[in-house]
Amino acid sequence: MKADILTIFPGFFDGPLDHGITRRACEMGLAKIEVHDLRQFTHDRHRTVDDRPFGGGEGMVLKPEPLFECLESLQVRSREDRIAGRARESVILLSAQGQRFTQPVAAELAQLDRMVLVCGRYEGVDERVTDFLADRELSIGDYVLSGGELGAAVVIEAVTRLLPGAVGNEASTRQESFTAHMESARPNGADSTCGSGGLLDYPHYTRPADFRGMPVPEVLLNGNHEQIRRWRRERALSKTLRNRPDLLESVQLSDEDAKILARIKDGAK
Ligand code: SAM
Repeated sequence: MKADILTIFPGFFDGPLDHGITRRACEMGLAKIEVHDLRQFTHDRHRTVDDRPFGGGEGMVLKPEPLFECLESLQVRSREDRIAGRARESVILLSAQGQRFTQPVAAELAQLDRMVLVCGRYEGVDERVTDFLADRELSIGDYVLSGGELGAAVVIEAVTRLLPGAVGNEASTRQESFTAHMESARPNGADSTCGSGGLLDYPHYTRPADFRGMPVPEVLLNGNHEQIRRWRRERALSKTLRNRPDLLESVQLSDEDAKILARIKDGAK
């Protein structure tokens, strides 16, 4: 997967993508990240990338020319081919007005050969970038940041860890929060994990078994895989109900899940 980042602050990326799984994926050749300085695509003495908004109003707007010229220099496939799915490439504008970036969107982007991430600044980018250059707009959450750089780093990290081979134990990425894929128990039955199935992950503990009088739940120490699996599922369901009840509306619950959930709700009354 190749990721190109278009930004007026290339130095921003000197640190955030140089750690952990993202760094390892780059070292292993699974990912390649290139940062492009939009000011190099300006033609005036001051290397101007912004201008006042037509129609008046607050702030400045990121001009279209550097963005179009920078993208053209990258020789990505045509917008028609990208949108029609004839190219496994996508040009993405980071924007508070975009579609929400979620785990399923990360999984979709992980199938691409290349993604180009366009970072806005100021009051935003000239809308012609949205309409004629980018294939889609993505928002990393319902809040307004000062620029798209953090969003681009978030997208790259979430996507990179889904690339085959990037995470040591691949099964772990299939079991995490928001991941719709359900992990089934191993044939010998010795599997105490449960896939999140689109819910939040279950709680994790490690040694010591008793830390400052805070013991690890007894069930995790008894070696009974089926009991552990059921306990984890119950905890995943109760945490989702408490913190993200909206997720329960879109996931498919098993009969066992529905019973556990009814019991949790009863207990809360
Ligand atoms: N005027 C815009 C609005 O109200 O929607 C906000 C512009 S923001 C100050 C500047 C840039 O930050 C945007 O062009 C975008 O690239 C980035 N940005 C801000 N919030 C974001 C979010 N939630 N997700 C992704 N990018 C965001």
